[in-house]
Amino acid sequence: MKKVCARCGMTFSCTDNQSEVTRAFSRLDARQRDYIAENYDNCLCCDCVQEIGKFFYAFGVNPYYSKKRKILSDID
Ligand SMILES: [Zn+2]
Repeated sequence: MKKVCARCGMTFSCTDNQSEVTRAFSRLDARQRDYIAENYDNCLCCDCVQEIGKFFYAFGVNPYYSKKRKILSDID
């Protein structure tokens, strides 16, 4: 069954991809999982799950999920 990634729009096969996505997902923490659950209704591809894991805290633009509620407005 083909799925379209809710984040990047790439088509991928959920069954082929499932163990990889599950593995990537299992490395995320609770806030990263909340972020995905609240922002994306559908499956994400493995790359996107990994990217969120890598970059979620990298640029500080997730004030909703940050206790500090720090907003950086100078990021394009
Ligand atoms: Zn994707």
